[in-house]
Amino acid sequence: MRMFSKACSLVVSSLPRCSSSAPAIRGQPSLIPRVSRKWLGKPLMYGIGTLLVMPLRTIHGVGRMFGAARYLCNMTSVSSSLQIELVPCLQDNYAYILHDVDTGTVGVVDPSEAVPIINALEKRNQNLTYILNTHHHYDHTGGNLELKAKYGAKVIGSEKDKDRIPGIDITLSEGDTWMFAGHQVLVMETPGHTSGHVSFYFPGSGAIFTGDTLFSLSCGKLFEGTPEQVRYLCIHMHSSLQKIVALPDVTKVYCGHEYTLSNSRFALSIEPGNEELQEYAASTADLRNKNTPTVPTTIAREKQCNPFLRTSSPEIKKRLSIPDHFDDARVLEVIRRAKDNF
Ligand SMILES: [Zn+2]
Repeated sequence: MRMFSKACSLVVSSLPRCSSSAPAIRGQPSLIPRVSRKWLGKPLMYGIGTLLVMPLRTIHGVGRMFGAARYLCNMTSVSSSLQIELVPCLQDNYAYILHDVDTGTVGVVDPSEAVPIINALEKRNQNLTYILNTHHHYDHTGGNLELKAKYGAKVIGSEKDKDRIPGIDITLSEGDTWMFAGHQVLVMETPGHTSGHVSFYFPGSGAIFTGDTLFSLSCGKLFEGTPEQVRYLCIHMHSSLQKIVALPDVTKVYCGHEYTLSNSRFALSIEPGNEELQEYAASTADLRNKNTPTVPTTIAREKQCNPFLRTSSPEIKKRLSIPDHFDDARVLEVIRRAKDNF
C-alpha cells in the first residue's frame, strides 16, 4: 500500500457512481480495485485510533491506557501510519485531524470552525491537504472556506450534498473508494440525519467517522422531512446504523459530538438492567468529570449499550410499551420519539 502513498493521494477510484468537480482528478485512472463486500467484512488489518503525535509503526501489540495518557494513547494494533487527533470545536463538536506519518499528508474531518484547526496545525508546523465532510450542517463545515483559502485544501463530501457543502471539490457516492495518502477510504452513504450524510471508513486503521449518524449511545435526529415522513426517515436511519455496525467489532467510531453523558441518562432510563450500559455510563461520567473525551467508542460497545442498536431488547420494548409486531425501524421510531421528549 505504501508504494501508492504519494501517487494515489489525489486519486478517486473510477467507479461508475463516482464523480468529481475537479476535472484533473476525475480524469486519472484508478490504481485500486473496487472494494468488494467480502473485503468490507474482513479488513486486511486493523490499526490505530490515536490522539497522539508519534510514529506508530514501532508500536506493537494491544495498546493499554496509562493514567493521564489514556486518551492520548489508545491503540488496538500495529500496521497503520495514520494518526487521528481529536480537536474540540464549538460547544460540543469534534473535528478530527488525520496525519499520514509516511508522507506528512494531513486532512481534517468535519471542521466546525477554522481557528482550532489552524492552531493545532501550526503547533506541529503542518499543512492541510484535505477537508472531509460527513454532511452539510454548519457545525461540520463552518471552517471549510477559511481553511481552503489558507491552505488550498480540497473539500470532499457526498455527491448528494454537492450544492450545499461549502467549497466542495470532490464528490463521492456509496461504495466509492478514495485514497488518503495511501490509506483506503470507503465511502458509506448513511442517510437519516440528513439525506446526503456519508460516513468515512478507514479499514486499514479500523476507524470510521460517523458524523451525526451514529453517536456513542444514540443516533442523530431526523432533520429532513415532514412529520408524515418520519417513518420513512427511520427506515433510512435504521439501515444506515445496521450498515455501520456490520463492520468488525473492534472498529473505532469517531462521531461528531460529545453527547455520551446525556445519552447515557436516556439509555439507562429505558434499559436500566443492561449491565454493560451501567458500567459504561459510570465510566463516561468519570471521564467527563475530568473533561476527558469519551470518543472514540467501538462497534462492540455500541452494540451492547446503544438503545438505537438494541431494537430487539425485551426490556426496552416493555419500558416503551412497544407492540411485538413492530419491526426494527418502527421500534427505532418509538425510541427516537422518546429521546426527543426526554
Ligand atoms: Zn448535523
